[in-house]
Amino acid sequence: MQNAQETKTKLNISNIFTDELPGDEEKRNFTRQVYKSAYSEVLPKKPKNPEMVHFNEDLADELNLENVDSEKILSLLSGQENFEGFTPYAMCYGGHQFGNWAGQLGDGRAINIAEVLDKNGVVQTLQLKGAGETPYSRHADGLAVLRSSIREYLCSEAMFHLGVPTTRALSLALTGDLVRRDIMYDGNPEMEKGAIVCRVAPSFLRFGNYQIFPVRDDIENLRVLTDFTIREYFPHLGEPSKETYFEFLKEVKESTLELMLEWERVGFVHGVMNTDNLSILGLTIDYGPYGWLEPYDPNWTPNTTDRQFKRYRFGNQSMIALWNLVQLANALYPLIEDAEGLEEMLKEYQPEYAKRQLEMTAEKLGVSSEDEAFEKLAFDLAENMYKSEIDMTLFYRNLNKFNAENPLEFLPILEDTSYSENFKQFEDVWIDWLERYAKQIKSENKDSAERIASMNAVNPKYVLRNYMAQLAIDKADEGDYSLVEELYELLKNPYDEQPEMEKWFVKRPDWAKNRVGCSMLSCSS
Ligand code: AMP
Ligand code: MG
Repeated sequence: MQNAQETKTKLNISNIFTDELPGDEEKRNFTRQVYKSAYSEVLPKKPKNPEMVHFNEDLADELNLENVDSEKILSLLSGQENFEGFTPYAMCYGGHQFGNWAGQLGDGRAINIAEVLDKNGVVQTLQLKGAGETPYSRHADGLAVLRSSIREYLCSEAMFHLGVPTTRALSLALTGDLVRRDIMYDGNPEMEKGAIVCRVAPSFLRFGNYQIFPVRDDIENLRVLTDFTIREYFPHLGEPSKETYFEFLKEVKESTLELMLEWERVGFVHGVMNTDNLSILGLTIDYGPYGWLEPYDPNWTPNTTDRQFKRYRFGNQSMIALWNLVQLANALYPLIEDAEGLEEMLKEYQPEYAKRQLEMTAEKLGVSSEDEAFEKLAFDLAENMYKSEIDMTLFYRNLNKFNAENPLEFLPILEDTSYSENFKQFEDVWIDWLERYAKQIKSENKDSAERIASMNAVNPKYVLRNYMAQLAIDKADEGDYSLVEELYELLKNPYDEQPEMEKWFVKRPDWAKNRVGCSMLSCSS
């Protein structure tokens, strides 16, 4: 055990964001428009009776929090007590929601409670989600419920272990307070258990943080925020100038494109890709009504609020990311003033995406994308999977059993992973595809063990299927957190076989098909 002084120095708390950026003069906590400020100071609400549901020991270690005793941790991460030497704050941002400018949004229920230096020398920000009202809460309560907090906690860690850039989750605590929610917005509100997740990221800056300033003709603070971002997170670009602003946007474009490919690789649908939910660092942020593809369907969205237009459907995510990048480019335009250059740069996105998407698919199939026939093979695969309702995760992972010498052996596996009631009708197209795939593999003549190992490294065996999270939620509602723990452990090694966990390597059970929380999720959280 270290003494308190040592723990404190080791924690190395900084206040970079509030030291460097303009803050709101108003210190009282009431809902309002906040101008010329990147943040407002605000303290978390004191919880009635906090209880830790899950604590991420590995991440705590990385953050040098391992020697802080558990009572103190609970107190700090539930909003009961503040980190010494830190000024908590909520960030000011705007955003386009479902394609429309929504004005000021801001951290309505997120409060940054510390910046700590991690073991890699990176300053990480700790943020409580659900810790009460802030100046940005608008008409809402600033709170979060257990159900959505479990979803955020498990999924952000699952994504991290899948290798997908994401904000992380340090803890999940109950507040002891009850929160009123109308899950399906149908006039049937219920009281639910209040909870708080502590999220962690080098920065929680979103596209919307930049958008809010030029909309208000505040170019000076747009520049202050952009300069800050470049100095802190893109220092390799050099001192801020017109050129570095341009390069900054280009890097955001690249990391965002990379993120979209990663979501596609693992079958993740974010569900609410508003510009306030896109991270400037290319991280997955704000886990709300997200979902995982089960039957492969580019048109699928888990978000019931988006059911009509399906703006945020699986197959549209890369296009929406580009739309959001255009909004960010518009916001930064007053600093760059080079419309032609910006247009050129953004035009590169689509061909680049198409090329990388093909390469990614080739990696998942363990073949080369260079062969001319590959594009057709990839296209037909998507079509076959969609029509015959093949489970995406099971399909790709099971390819490690594909035998190029006898491709038709794979047919029964396909049938088992299909949700279609009439799989037989697709047998012929599959036979054709399997034979072409076998031919491609044979023509490349790669070492089979190596090929399979590289496929297993990009095709996860376990993902957080929607029904799995829901089962954990159902149990947790009754005070049993064993499934939260089991899934947390399972998803730490998503590419490993884990034979004792095979029960999670199955199709979505029938009962989950139309159940609220499994296939239908609202933004109510
Ligand atoms: P989201 O759809 O979760 O990205 O949220 C959009 C905006 O609504 C953000 O400004 C959030 O901070 C805010 N918000 C969402 N839920 C709440 C809540 N319960 N209380 C206050 N603000 C909220
Ligand atoms: Mg959000």
